[in-house]
Amino acid sequence: MEYIPYATQSINEDDLAAVREVLTSGWLTQGPAVPRFEQAFAALQGVAHAVAVSNATAGLHIACLALGAGPGKTVWTSPNSFVASSNCALYCGAGVDFVDIDPATRNMSGSALAAKLEQAERDGQLPAIVIPVHFAGLACDLTPMRALADRYGFKIIEDASHAVGASYNGQPIGSRYADASVFSFHPVKIVTTGEGGMVTTPDAALARQLQLLRSHGIKREPGEMQQANASTGAWHYEQHSLGFNYRLTDIQAALGSSQLQRISAFHAARERVAERYDQLLAGLPLRLPARLPGPGATARSSWHLYVVEIVPGPGVAERATVFARLREAGIGVNVHYMPIPLQPYYRALGFRPGQFPAAEAYAAQALSIPIYPMLTDAMQDRVIATLTQALRA
Ligand SMILES: *Cc1c(COP(=O)(O)O)cnc(C)c1O
Repeated sequence: MEYIPYATQSINEDDLAAVREVLTSGWLTQGPAVPRFEQAFAALQGVAHAVAVSNATAGLHIACLALGAGPGKTVWTSPNSFVASSNCALYCGAGVDFVDIDPATRNMSGSALAAKLEQAERDGQLPAIVIPVHFAGLACDLTPMRALADRYGFKIIEDASHAVGASYNGQPIGSRYADASVFSFHPVKIVTTGEGGMVTTPDAALARQLQLLRSHGIKREPGEMQQANASTGAWHYEQHSLGFNYRLTDIQAALGSSQLQRISAFHAARERVAERYDQLLAGLPLRLPARLPGPGATARSSWHLYVVEIVPGPGVAERATVFARLREAGIGVNVHYMPIPLQPYYRALGFRPGQFPAAEAYAAQALSIPIYPMLTDAMQDRVIATLTQALRA
């Protein structure tokens, strides 16, 4: 029987043509396809500046650096995320802590954040940066979070890896509320460039800093040189800061631009899958994904993931059993995420079970079931039938 993964890319003839064209164009990297992709992406997210990077992890790293993460500073994020959301702070020599999730949205809890900030202010331990994660593509409740950032003076970097094309209160992710927003183009995400990422920001100076950090800290603009004189020529460039090679190639950017042309179709297809799951799973012992980010707020999810939580009870199989049965039946379920602070590396930093009870309770029952644009009704029906069987103890 055909294997159904939990997520996969969608590549068509236009994507192939776009990549073929760039391969014969003379520019494989540092050419015109990258700024073209950046402009198209900035327009999609309704934000002034977009800086393409080699992956979202690199984007989180340089966004943290540019916004002041470093020794003596602390960065807070959600325990219900991929490890890149917190590793980025450690790369900069900053400390990391977590804010527990809201069990309904599975995003960082606004009330837990407010309470933790009050305590941190008393202790003189306020974070420099908070990284909310728009889990599965559902926006965090950003209005109260922005108010807290203004009150306590921290920066917001959205980990929007799941949220390409998603919106909050009718506005695209990245268009306001955050200082910087980071998107991923890994093949399981909404659009793909193989590996790839984008950092967006409304701030021109921050965008310039991100461009420098992406490419060795090197400047070439004649007006910005410190050492140019009569004996220097057009070869002259200067390194003014310590950057990296975190560039996206033109090959990847061309694929990304081609994928963006189909973003509306991708979203509509994912929404359709989510709506069918909502209807057809309603009678099962499962907790289904929330659609609202918080009181009085609305969101359009990008539906990167569709996560069900098993509600334990008599006659209901354990999560591990359900997981194993689905995998045996050729359905590539997964778990997003084991709480970051429970990873061995983070336990060695001092984190302990019990510190983030909502994230732990969620992670014990969570199951990501297949959702992607090419998932047909027949494939989805097979997932639903198999899951229904697998849930029986
Ligand atoms: C995928 C992902 C990342 C990392 O993205 P890469 O592009 O693979 O580096 C970071 N955070 C979250 C929440 C992700 O899902």
